Amino acid sequence: MKRRALPQTRPLSAFLAGLVLGVAVFLLAARPAPAVQEDDHLIIKVSPARLTPLKKEAIAWVDAAAPELDKIKNEIWAAAEVAMEEYKSSAALAGYLERNGFKVERGAAGLPTAFVGVFGSGEPVIGFLAEYDALPGLSQQAASAQAPVQAGAPGHGCGHNLYGTASAAAAVAVKNVMARHGIKGTLKIFGCPAEETVEGKVFMARAGVFDGLSCCLQWHPGGDNQVPLGSESALNQFEVEFFGKTAHAAGGAWNGRSALDAVELADVGLNFLREHLPPTARLHYVIVHGGDAPNVVPDHARAWYYVRDIDRESVEKHYERVLKVIEGAAMMTGTTYKVHFKSGVHEMLMNRAGNELVYANLLALGPPSFTDEEQAFAKAVQKNSGVEEKGLSGKIEPFKRPERNLGGGSTDVAEVSWLTPTTSLVVAAMPLGAPGHHWSTVACSGMSIGTKAVVTAAKVLSATCLDFLTEPQSIRRMRDEWQADKKGREYKSPLPADLAPPVVPRQTVGRE
Ligand SMILES: [Zn+2]
Repeated sequence: MKRRALPQTRPLSAFLAGLVLGVAVFLLAARPAPAVQEDDHLIIKVSPARLTPLKKEAIAWVDAAAPELDKIKNEIWAAAEVAMEEYKSSAALAGYLERNGFKVERGAAGLPTAFVGVFGSGEPVIGFLAEYDALPGLSQQAASAQAPVQAGAPGHGCGHNLYGTASAAAAVAVKNVMARHGIKGTLKIFGCPAEETVEGKVFMARAGVFDGLSCCLQWHPGGDNQVPLGSESALNQFEVEFFGKTAHAAGGAWNGRSALDAVELADVGLNFLREHLPPTARLHYVIVHGGDAPNVVPDHARAWYYVRDIDRESVEKHYERVLKVIEGAAMMTGTTYKVHFKSGVHEMLMNRAGNELVYANLLALGPPSFTDEEQAFAKAVQKNSGVEEKGLSGKIEPFKRPERNLGGGSTDVAEVSWLTPTTSLVVAAMPLGAPGHHWSTVACSGMSIGTKAVVTAAKVLSATCLDFLTEPQSIRRMRDEWQADKKGREYKSPLPADLAPPVVPRQTVGRE
């Protein structure tokens, strides 16, 4: 019986297996189409966050505060203070925080234009980053075709007047909700000067200003609405001075030793070195001083260099090779030299767990909505810049895994990302595809377009902060991911221990 029964069970089990497979194929085929395109394997599907009553309170507060936020962002825009000179801008934000119940310490890590505002006590300790420095030479009228307020003066070409205002507003919105509902925890808002050149956060990180945070929130104005997951490059920047011997360039050049020759040979050497660095590396330089007259052999020359790559270890290795090239140039020209290390940053540690929450809140709140007039202005800017006239973004970009990191720009926010899990957010504040660090960004960040970005960013940051405060496991998830990402590497400042920040004293600031 058994022997005969066996062959009979085979077709039955095959039939059952076939049935199971058929049902599975049918179910897969009948599944509703996903909201995102699945052919892009990098896209991560995220559902909009729930706007809880606490979040709704914070959001309503931001909406009501919009006219005041517009005033603050315009005040910082008009001051347009470059790196290390942000006395009025930092005072505007520090004063605003004090009026709203934060205890503010002005100055930090030897940077007089930094500040730290604190509200509440105990765990968790949630940080907000604020920036407010302008860029030199970008003076531009708000909501206008290219026309400076004052030719050659600085302007907010990176929208940092929006950055600082929205972060402060988000902190105040959350503080109001915490105070009203007795929510425990500490908010710390960091006024971070000189993002554009000196990288103030690196000095603040070295001094321990960011220590003790559970996590940190930050954003940046941009051309679209997104939460990026890709990293940013590590960097060392430094100047080199060469010292030679002056002589009459025609009558006695053989008695001279040209410091400019040394700079030029160093730069030729670096351009040859480029081929033997990984494709993710970047080298840039400018000649700050190359002599005074062609008929005088320059006895002094100065150049400014950037070395970047996708991680700190690579930057340090490349930096050693760059220094060898510089030494070689000095030997070739019979000059001496001195290296002045200016600043350095790490690569950014992106936190998917935290960014997913930011993204979910951005989805729930929606992107800023712009009027026909604002769209027309954006299109005029795009026409002028020779890019497609698509106006301002009205959508949220997909939440995507990073593609292969080919290297690129750097940010001092990276230092904070090594000290605590740090989230990102970009909100549309300038026309799609328009160039950054450009007069058009100054025009947009001084008008209603910029204010709308401030309001959206403040809402998303405050809603996410309330997630952190009310769901402790969200911070735990972020910290677990962050610990794994660091792979046992602890933060080590890229700065020499004795390097002081290049402070610009208040009394020397001020333009006619
Ligand atoms: Zn910026």
